[in-house]
Amino acid sequence: MYTTLSGREPASGIIENAKHIVKTMKRAPHLAIILMGNDSASELYVRKKIQKAESIGMLATLFRLDGNASESELLGLVKRLNMDTSIDGFIVQSPLPKHIDYPRVVEAIDPGKDVDGWTSTNMGRMFLGISETFMPATPMGIIKMLDYYKVDIAGKDVTIIGRGNVVGKPLAFMLLERSATITICHSRTGNLAEHTKKADILISAAGKPHLVKADMVREGAYVIDVGTGNIGGKTVGDVDFENVIKKAHCSPVPGGVGPMTVAMLISNVIEAALRRL
Ligand code: NAP
Repeated sequence: MYTTLSGREPASGIIENAKHIVKTMKRAPHLAIILMGNDSASELYVRKKIQKAESIGMLATLFRLDGNASESELLGLVKRLNMDTSIDGFIVQSPLPKHIDYPRVVEAIDPGKDVDGWTSTNMGRMFLGISETFMPATPMGIIKMLDYYKVDIAGKDVTIIGRGNVVGKPLAFMLLERSATITICHSRTGNLAEHTKKADILISAAGKPHLVKADMVREGAYVIDVGTGNIGGKTVGDVDFENVIKKAHCSPVPGGVGPMTVAMLISNVIEAALRRL
């Protein structure tokens, strides 16, 4: 039998620990989230982040912007949150509407409040191994999940589907630091299955529902599904979980990487607050 790699168990341990730390702090750490537009998946993720933060005694504030708001309005809000001394860290929920230059917005965030770890300062620090950085929440959550399930990383062949800035690229770097041999695939990859089949650890972050079928997976591999999509109104991942779990260990969607992302975000906000105390 293969293991369902639930993210809920490891995340709850991290959250429990965070709760104890918050109790010892002079004041409650404060997370802010900017949500632009009304993407239904983003609404759900934001709600989960806020609920989890509040459930452990943190403060969480949501700032909404209309999907048609201009980039300068968004940049204005980012600047306001940078200056707001009551806020320890904030994120700009992705995806953003097409007319917004995402890198420009990310770069406007004060690196000391960049709890998603996406600014060039924090990414650069991560690449240079400088400890005072915020590690990107989702890739960090995936590493913690593999550690929780005692999956050896060093010396293993890891295939990542997706080369996005949020998951694929930083994750490849983190796994390289843990001495894995990395293959990164993307939409122009010629023969995807050729790369997925050889993986000891396969991680999919493409956002394409059921892209990864059982015949693309090695028997006994570890499969981490980052993607979130929708089939017939049901939230599904990139991996055809029902069939893949018959031959490999696999994380589910929902209940896999999502809770780990939230747990890592919460950890980063606490870290940001501790630095400011
Ligand atoms: P992204 O920046 O758009 O990257 C998607 C990547 O997938 C791109 O590199 C793209 O290739 C590749 N791709 C798309 N279709 C493909 C295909 N058929 N075969 C191979 N590669 C393909 O997206 P992202 O921000 O990294 O997010 C990826 C997914 O993860 C989304 O579903 C997102 O919702 C989810 N996500 C989940 C969490 C969580 O906490 N659970 C957190 C973050 C993201 P090209 O570069 O060639 O276009």
